[in-house]
Amino acid sequence: MAKQAGRTDEALSAIGARVIPDFEGVHEIWPRGERLTAVRHAAEIYKERFTSQGLVHAIKSVDIAAAPYPVKYAFHDAVSVPTLPLISMINRMLVVQYDDWNGTPRTLVFEPTVPDGSAEAPFYRNLRALINRIPGGHLAEKFVLSYYNEPGDVLVKLGLRPGDIDFCTFDHLHVQDPRMILGSTEVIEGETEPRRPLFGDAKMLVHSRELATLQSLHPMQWAWYVEGGLGGVDPAMVVTFDGDIELGRGITLLWTPGHTDGNHSLVVNTPDGVWVSSENGISLDNWQPELSRIPVCANTTSNSAAKSAPMPIPWRILSISTIR
Ligand SMILES: [Zn+2]
Repeated sequence: MAKQAGRTDEALSAIGARVIPDFEGVHEIWPRGERLTAVRHAAEIYKERFTSQGLVHAIKSVDIAAAPYPVKYAFHDAVSVPTLPLISMINRMLVVQYDDWNGTPRTLVFEPTVPDGSAEAPFYRNLRALINRIPGGHLAEKFVLSYYNEPGDVLVKLGLRPGDIDFCTFDHLHVQDPRMILGSTEVIEGETEPRRPLFGDAKMLVHSRELATLQSLHPMQWAWYVEGGLGGVDPAMVVTFDGDIELGRGITLLWTPGHTDGNHSLVVNTPDGVWVSSENGISLDNWQPELSRIPVCANTTSNSAAKSAPMPIPWRILSISTIR
């Protein structure tokens, strides 16, 4: 374990990042009610330090694609829509510029989803086949599926080149094909030549548990991951980390296990305040259901505990709507 910690510290200092000790051990606390209290307490303490350390230089959010997602997953069975039980979620890519802890200016892209890669995940492959079998299904597909921008085009619009990007990261690797981001020596099925890296030498930051999950798929997770998505990818293009890390002034990746074991959330400090992008939910209704304007959602989840325990930390959710 000490050896592992040493390796993590070394890998982090090479990218100008550092470990956050404030949340150590909170995810092991049992029972869950006490765990929630501990997480909130640690977050209050950490937020004070995080905000005192400075702001990011710039951040921009750009729409990539709207994709279908089952309503029953989105609201944990609280809401039922008999006609078309899918919602349309917009996947956004964020570009963040900041100074790392060595004072080096850095550019990170968060959620640079390549729609071609997501379509390969069994869940979306099966969904498309199902929609195509329904009479008029292509009309439904148009309603829930739209493409706005490719990650590479986003850079051009922002006046950046692929070589300007230092890091990319996804909060988790559901429906992501790393070969399409990092390049591969293998030819992806249906293509004629190997993919080149989308962002030059940019390294992908991945929580070690998320990478391990993709490397060893559990049958319950299989439909959501792109099997073989790491084939032919240079391991040196991937930087793994454990727990929570601060990438630099005003930018942090918090380990937020829940939706997946290695899920992390992006936290940024801006002149408008602190924003969090988390994919453990798909809308604000997931975090404060008692305030939801979806009546069933509010009724199903409101209880004395939820009402008497409003979120103590006014962190706002920036762009939670990514293909899951
Ligand atoms: Zn997911």
